[in-house]
Amino acid sequence: MKEYTICPLTVGANETDQGVMTYLRGYGKRIWIPIYAFLIKGAEEVILVDTGLEQFVVPEHVGREYGLKIQEFEEALEDHGLRPEDIDLIIHTHLHNDHCENDPKCPQAKIVVQKAEYDFFLNPHPIDHRYYPDLLDGLHVELVEGDVSLRDGIDLILTPGHTPGGQSVAVRTSGGRAVITGFCCNALNFPPNAPVVAPGVHTDAIAAFESALKIREMADILIPLHDISIGKLGRIPGV
Ligand SMILES: [Zn+2]
Repeated sequence: MKEYTICPLTVGANETDQGVMTYLRGYGKRIWIPIYAFLIKGAEEVILVDTGLEQFVVPEHVGREYGLKIQEFEEALEDHGLRPEDIDLIIHTHLHNDHCENDPKCPQAKIVVQKAEYDFFLNPHPIDHRYYPDLLDGLHVELVEGDVSLRDGIDLILTPGHTPGGQSVAVRTSGGRAVITGFCCNALNFPPNAPVVAPGVHTDAIAAFESALKIREMADILIPLHDISIGKLGRIPGV
């Protein structure tokens, strides 16, 4: 049985409000959220989940304070002996700009995204300004619809609500099924012994809640897309 490891690459960070992560909770608390790309190791192909930000300004103390190595995309790949041209496959959780800005640097990559997400990205509603519709021009986009078994041990799960076509990525590991959430959130969206908290940003709050509930139930290892603790892990599962 094929098993993979997931290496989180911290390719940017943004300062925001906790309420942007958690609907009706935590408003007024300023936080830094790391922006990740996830390198999936163990496949014949070089696979990334999301590609992060291309340009960002993060004061140096932030990385130090949170124990994060915040790097440019190329630098982060280089640590793994890779260049952007080596990426074969990019799976997108969703197409907010902080998850796909480095795609144009990966001309060989096939970019897998849900059709509902891609349609919204090309023709975004003005309520959401974080879609850049020409960002993927000329790249090799492959659309999927609904839950899809993409590779042996890598499954895509449609988890809409934060955006119209977000997808979570379930990866078989030696520690069980690791799930990268298909929507922006941190650990506070998944309080222990309590219902989940919907993402603070959403196009459908109830769908967003249901999506969070669904993946919490199916995950042995839950990977919230913007949680600080994730970036401190060199690999998932750890050794
Ligand atoms: Zn998002």
